[in-house]
Amino acid sequence: MPLDCSDRPRRPGLRSRSLVIAATLGLSSQTLPVEARNASLWGRGVFPVASFAGYTSGFGMRSHPLSGDVRPHYGIDIAAPLGSPIRSWWAGTVSEVIVDGGCGNGLVIRSGSYEHIYCHLGGQAGHGVYRSGGVLLRVGQRVATGQVIGHIGLTGSTTGPHLHWGLRYRGAWMDPARVLRAMAESRRRRNPNPLQRPNLGVFR
Ligand SMILES: [Zn+2]
Repeated sequence: MPLDCSDRPRRPGLRSRSLVIAATLGLSSQTLPVEARNASLWGRGVFPVASFAGYTSGFGMRSHPLSGDVRPHYGIDIAAPLGSPIRSWWAGTVSEVIVDGGCGNGLVIRSGSYEHIYCHLGGQAGHGVYRSGGVLLRVGQRVATGQVIGHIGLTGSTTGPHLHWGLRYRGAWMDPARVLRAMAESRRRRNPNPLQRPNLGVFR
């Protein structure tokens, strides 16, 4: 069976049905991990796509766009123009450079208890190194919050230019939309003027 972006981040013990169902139910922000309840902390996060063009797929069970199989999707898909910049959601360390048929060229960045995963990037990836335009990243390298870490590409299993963005907390997948909502809420509290807040798509 060919891999696709929903399969790539598979790890033993993480495909438990209860986890997927809990995520699909759209649990409220009350269920965010302890570290995530600090509203002022969330406001520091940066939306990973510089040129937002829409959300094309959410987290949870879905009918796969290519195969039609119903299976879990461990992230959200954010459409953006081909070649547009991708930013690191949070400061951290590059823990993996991915090259495979599902995720395509991808990056995993670790920030404390969180890992953020970026798939379908343009450029070249291999042997722990990722290159795209002026971006050059190696496993073990530190990245800053908001740093451009790559560009939207068409690598791996994808039907159009988008970023597949995944998020793990202590090794367990969580819905990145919950984090985006927490980021938007934090910004709302700090700055009531919507015109002065960064673009978070529908979550602003
Ligand atoms: Zn995806």
